[in-house]
Amino acid sequence: MTAQILDGNALAQELRASFKERVAALTAKGHKPGLVVILVGEDPASQVYVRNKVNACEAVGMHSEKLVYPADVAQSVVMEKIAELNADPQVHGILVQLPLPKHFDEEAVLEAIAAAKDVDGFHAENVGALAQGNPRFIPCTPYGVMKMFEKGNVDLSGKEAVVIGRSNIVGKPMALLLINAGATVTVCHSRTKDLSFHTRRADIVVAAVGKPRFVTADMIKPGAVVIDVGINRLPADQGGKLCGDVDFEGCKAVAAQITPVPGGVGPMTITMLLANTIEAAERNAQQEAGR
Ligand code: NAD
Repeated sequence: MTAQILDGNALAQELRASFKERVAALTAKGHKPGLVVILVGEDPASQVYVRNKVNACEAVGMHSEKLVYPADVAQSVVMEKIAELNADPQVHGILVQLPLPKHFDEEAVLEAIAAAKDVDGFHAENVGALAQGNPRFIPCTPYGVMKMFEKGNVDLSGKEAVVIGRSNIVGKPMALLLINAGATVTVCHSRTKDLSFHTRRADIVVAAVGKPRFVTADMIKPGAVVIDVGINRLPADQGGKLCGDVDFEGCKAVAAQITPVPGGVGPMTITMLLANTIEAAERNAQQEAGR
């Protein structure tokens, strides 16, 4: 069997084209969606992510701003800025690029963002809403994975799903979304005793581990759907290329559907950030119309 490739680039393009229309409609009514991205420090990877987010906003006609602070900035300065942005009606989404420098209390910063503008979906209120099955903002990466399931006609109801990784950014929200969609979900992590035992009986495997080619063909049930969230840079002596958490070539021969890296989940993450910001602006416009 050769798996069908779930193409994140194509889906991201399709969705972004539809966003242009929604943004134009909002802008015409005086509600141009606006996202502010806060970057603290000079981490090169974070700089690239932030630039990509800002460019993606502009490409669909949204307003977007990047606020950059030096790595030694006091937390109070960033908190004051967040309070100001919370009150700014032009700003529908606020995102603080993680990780923050060590002297920051990351949780306190994320909680300071108004829940109605928390387009990353990391605020406790939004995590709680997701856990209750009434999500308001879904964290972008697992949201993107759900869109890929939808596009690939993957029926999740009653399926055995295994999520590898339990981070707040990917693994946990992914598990909640799969539960909400009717799957039977097992979450595996670094303390899991026999990972293959779990993955081999899964209809759906989502890998969010951060280890290159960690999931191999012998761990996959024939006909399973394999989603690779991992983004790893191989060492220079191995070509220096990007690769996922899944041994793509091996697993492709066993799975029914699989995401590549690059070109799979990656392009969907920023796409869903745009979606969340547009949703925030639409909610805001509806509220104002109802007043
Ligand atoms: P993380 O480091 O916070 O979490 C990794 C998880 O893997 C942990 O929960 C850990 O318990 C688990 N793990 C580690 N070793 C394991 C093992 N031997 N067996 C089973 N589980 C193990 O990472 P994260 O933020 O969740 O990201 C995971 C990967 O996804 C990374 O490669 C990251 O770059 C990538 N990522 C991609 C996107 C995207 O847009 N595609 C977004 C976020 C993260």
